[in-house]
Amino acid sequence: MKLITVANRLPVTFRDNAIIRSDGGLVSALEGVRRDNELIWVGWPGGDVPQEGRDAMIKTLREDLGCEPVFLSAEEREGYYDGFSNASLWPILHYMPDYMEYKDEWFDAYWQVNRKFADTVLRVAQDGDIVWVQDYHLFLLPEMLAEANPTLRIGFFLHTPFPSYELFRCQPRRQELLRGVLGAQLVGFHTFGYLRHFRSSLQRILNVDSNLNQVLWGDHRARLGVFPIGIDSHGFGKLVKSDEVARFRTEIDAQYADHRMVLSVERLDYSKGIPKKLQAIERFLELYPELVDSINFVLIAVPSREEVDTYRDLKESVAQSVGHINGRFATVRNIPVNFINRSVPFAELVALYSRADMALVTPLVDGMNLVAKEYLACRENGDGVLLLSEFAGAAQELFSAVLVNPYDIDGVSRAIADGLQMHIDEQRERVLPMRQRILEYNADRWTEDFLAHLDASSDDQQATAGYQSARRDVLAALQPPGTSLHLFLDYDGTLREFERNPLDAVPTAEMRDLFRQLDACADCHVFIVSGRSQSFLDAHFGDYRFGLVAEHGYWVRLPGADWTLLKNDADLSWKAQIMPIFQFHALSTPGSSVEEKRSALVWHYRKADPEFGAWKANHLIGELTESISNLPVEIHHGKCIVEVNSQHISKGIAVERAMKQVPPGGVAVCIGDDQTDESMLQLRFDNFFPIKVGEGATAATYRIPSPKKVRAFLSDLIAAAKAP
Ligand code: UDP
Repeated sequence: MKLITVANRLPVTFRDNAIIRSDGGLVSALEGVRRDNELIWVGWPGGDVPQEGRDAMIKTLREDLGCEPVFLSAEEREGYYDGFSNASLWPILHYMPDYMEYKDEWFDAYWQVNRKFADTVLRVAQDGDIVWVQDYHLFLLPEMLAEANPTLRIGFFLHTPFPSYELFRCQPRRQELLRGVLGAQLVGFHTFGYLRHFRSSLQRILNVDSNLNQVLWGDHRARLGVFPIGIDSHGFGKLVKSDEVARFRTEIDAQYADHRMVLSVERLDYSKGIPKKLQAIERFLELYPELVDSINFVLIAVPSREEVDTYRDLKESVAQSVGHINGRFATVRNIPVNFINRSVPFAELVALYSRADMALVTPLVDGMNLVAKEYLACRENGDGVLLLSEFAGAAQELFSAVLVNPYDIDGVSRAIADGLQMHIDEQRERVLPMRQRILEYNADRWTEDFLAHLDASSDDQQATAGYQSARRDVLAALQPPGTSLHLFLDYDGTLREFERNPLDAVPTAEMRDLFRQLDACADCHVFIVSGRSQSFLDAHFGDYRFGLVAEHGYWVRLPGADWTLLKNDADLSWKAQIMPIFQFHALSTPGSSVEEKRSALVWHYRKADPEFGAWKANHLIGELTESISNLPVEIHHGKCIVEVNSQHISKGIAVERAMKQVPPGGVAVCIGDDQTDESMLQLRFDNFFPIKVGEGATAATYRIPSPKKVRAFLSDLIAAAKAP
């Protein structure tokens, strides 16, 4: 297998004209894949690489490190990275719309850089390769890759939260972003909550339905999954015992002798909630003056995105607050807050983790938070206290941490005090199960898990090959040339994609062309079998020599004849009884409406809130089931409709009758997508091919994924019918 992993940054840094491989959980986990497979990294190498040294550098990156660089100009970086990724997307993904800025030119740069990444991937990828796209910088990449090479097996993992729809909809390019991600065959998140929000945005922004683990988008299926990222916990375990860490530890122990240490480690980012944390620290020092001389809050705030204004402002305000707190509480014996605004050597960080009595991890929102896991990985004896924000993704896994609401300043300050007094037995009871979890579900397991799911999702794509079987079997049955072909075709959801407003779902130019070809094909006999009204079918199909079935079989019009009733004696008196129930539901469900047909009543909820509409539909069905037990009707729950119609009328009865006209040896193909079509899809005759469009239970023998594929299928049949 070849794995191409694509991330904004390559796992390298330049120092003193040398390329140094950077480490980290993700890098070591993915590098593990290299043991048995080919692995290529695609990404920006960072910094400015002068044109002269570039060729040599590309050679080293490619040959020694398995990296394929994507070089970005200063302008591209500004628009794609500082602009759209970090000043537009990052705030909205972290629930901070007030910080979100947006410029069209940033998005243009983002699009262009995603295209640049796509071009690089496509240059190194061969058919069937696995491409794993990482994070929000590359939301558009999966779609670009899938369009260019449908054989690629594409996964996407989002390392940040995915916010509620209410937030995500503020992002002006929300549609393009979602469409971009859906190009992947597997989309992974850290928590189920993020997955749920993603699905809700798909439904409300793209009008795409999904279930807990997959999305069907046209004829493409994207699986969804939850994969909470792990760390290289064994690596930490080893490092904590190393001499280098021991040296730092000796220094730290001497410096903080007789002091309790509360450690915070984070990038200086507004999502980390540092100002709120400082308020809680100040409150703690107010409430517990007796501890002021014996406690140290070590705050490591790693500089981050300093090119972006909001980050510079944050740094200033944090420094001011620290000054204010220390000014207020420092004594000659102790300065309570030790603010370190730089990154610290890794071994020193590990020494601090191993020394700290408590880790204070209080982001306002955080995709995962690795610091929480790293602290636990360094607590070999199982002691220590992890005070963790409920709003970090890690809180979904680390159940026995002391969970706090970072907005509750008093609550956090009390939790610090309680945590510092926690008995060693309780510390171990809490820490040990969490250590167990992070040792087991480490970075390697995370990678294996995601890739195994991606592999299974790729099999899915082949499983939808029902299309190929249908094509093969029907074409074989159409031999010899001149065999008559009878097509019974539903319209909405089968020939034509749904629209939010059903009146907009009229045949497109491409479809009209297909209908003309069907009309001109001497051996083809078409029946449009629809739930639509006579007038709709007359308007759009009246010019062809097609048979028409309107209102699910109530009206039939044979080619060249007038409309007739399928049954003259159908009892429709039940409509008066059902109508008030429908009308009541329409009033209490904004966006829904009642349509009265001659033989049916339909409640449409396509324009209602999708979840509320579906819930009300179930309600309506429950109510109808109780009130219609003696009536000669059937209830159908179709796509955003609830329909009640006469038991004596159905598409199946209409098709069964029309089948009498099929000459011996003729071939019939019947295609439909929803429950009302099942009455015809369950029919069985010789040379009868029932095909279901899309997912869901069916009596049909074949499946075609989408209306687009149905049209392609029909074109193939016409070509075969025309062939000499
Ligand atoms: N870290 C680092 N140098 C430092 C301090 C922290 O490399 O001086 C690392 C830390 O070990 C952790 C990462 O930065 O792996 C922070 O990851 P986290 O998920 O907590 O937050 P993010 O920065 O990804 O939002």
